[in-house]
Amino acid sequence: MPSAHDFAAMRERMVHDQLIGRDITNPTVLDAMRRVPRHAFVPAHLQSVAYQDSPLPIGHNQTISQPYIVALMTQMLELTAKDIVLEIGTGSGYQTAVLCDIAQFVYSLERYPELGQQASDRLKQQGYLNVEVFIGDGSQGLPDMAPFDTILVTAAAPAIPGPLRAQLRDGGRLVLPTGDRFQQFLQRVRRQGESWHIEHLIPVMFVPLYGRHGFKPPDNPDLSDSTPIKYDPESNM
Ligand code: SAM
Repeated sequence: MPSAHDFAAMRERMVHDQLIGRDITNPTVLDAMRRVPRHAFVPAHLQSVAYQDSPLPIGHNQTISQPYIVALMTQMLELTAKDIVLEIGTGSGYQTAVLCDIAQFVYSLERYPELGQQASDRLKQQGYLNVEVFIGDGSQGLPDMAPFDTILVTAAAPAIPGPLRAQLRDGGRLVLPTGDRFQQFLQRVRRQGESWHIEHLIPVMFVPLYGRHGFKPPDNPDLSDSTPIKYDPESNM
């Protein structure tokens, strides 16, 4: 098992080669990527390859996104330290930790209870206190906590979910991949009053966003009719 020193060196190399070497220029994002220990968010047997230039499996046929994609989406959000963020698709909790490192508070929603609980526990272990993880259908957002300054969707939607547009504050940014099941474009949506300015960025391939405003779920749980439940790391759900 690599030492803490080895992991820090791998992280620095990742930032240099995979992020600065491409088009990640925002110093706040680069610093967050230097700080967040990606290896703490992957299954134990994958820790030694946590800093490689690829997504990795995290169970339930889901993945932790490639470091470059995490950095790119974070850069596209144009986050400030005052932002209240909604993240859809907690997954491993790694992207959540990067958001927590920069923004004021992060609400994160995950469809699979086990993934959400594990991510919430890891975030707590790593000392992130400005986050709450909910279990539910993120395609419907979190209306009780809206509006949000920024919204990030880390799974592919067939179109921009209406509830997420509605929960974005005026002047806010929403970043998400949209397209079909196998090919999407990363989009940034800016809200100006009742107008939404949409930019199409790069082609990407994400796992599907399942739910009422996403793709039809092939399996259980179908959470589309239930209200999101907040996971409390102090209790056992
Ligand atoms: N950003 C995550 C990370 O750093 O590990 C990776 C996210 S993974 C690519 C996409 C996640 O979206 C999966 O964990 C998946 O279960 C979740 N997901 C899919 N549909 C969802 C929905 N309707 N609501 C909430 N989460 C959903």
